[in-house]
Amino acid sequence: MMNRDRLKKLAAEERFIPGIYNYCDRWCERCPQTSHCLNFSLSEEEFSDPETKDIRNKAFWNKLSGILGETMELLRESAKEWGVDLETLDSTGDIENLRLKNRAAENHLLCRAAKSYTDMAKDWFEGRETLLLETAAAAREGVSLEEAIEVIRWYQYFISAKVMRAVRGKIDEEEERFDEFPSDSDGSAKIALIAMDRSISAWAVIRHYAGDDDERVMEIIVFLDGLKQAMEKTFPNARSFIRPGFDRVDQNQ
Ligand code: SF4
Repeated sequence: MMNRDRLKKLAAEERFIPGIYNYCDRWCERCPQTSHCLNFSLSEEEFSDPETKDIRNKAFWNKLSGILGETMELLRESAKEWGVDLETLDSTGDIENLRLKNRAAENHLLCRAAKSYTDMAKDWFEGRETLLLETAAAAREGVSLEEAIEVIRWYQYFISAKVMRAVRGKIDEEEERFDEFPSDSDGSAKIALIAMDRSISAWAVIRHYAGDDDERVMEIIVFLDGLKQAMEKTFPNARSFIRPGFDRVDQNQ
């Protein structure tokens, strides 16, 4: 198991872009920035042994909790250096406050709509996926159909999770906002918007093969587009948020 010194040494390597994994889509297999990502290197280093590939393997979970333990220790050390007291969240008032904010975020219209999208995508694929994959194998443009399915499936829960994080962050920021820092809620909203853009494109590919179901696919696209517009209105600065490692000031999407 990686020890703390090794973790510190690895984390200090210049090739890593600080915080790059905070606003990515966690799709490491397709990520163009793996060599700059500490998160990726940590998991590669820890899990490269074929014996530990199986995520159900006991060793995997032991390693995972080992990383968590080391990371928490580092976090506590850094917190001390920054003068942050991690124990102050212990009071009942703080916990109740957190609970109220979480509930407010869960009930937010955007979060409920994003959750509905997850259910819509899930329902649509129910019973259709095998047929679609067979079509994908038979079709000449099969790869793109397969990829479209992969994209929708990857982001189907991700969108809702990121919308939730953005809304939850906004509730916090309304209480306490430090203008000199980029807003975390905008960063989460941006990656949610990118996931929506990609999912809409992927649904458009699916629609081509959907036969009689194409109306339902259109409904899903319209719904997702509505959610996207509502997010853009609620987070007007999200698109211009610069994600470390992925966006450049002059090349922002
Ligand atoms: S930045 Fe790329 S490699 Fe790192 S966690 Fe995100 S998707 Fe994976």
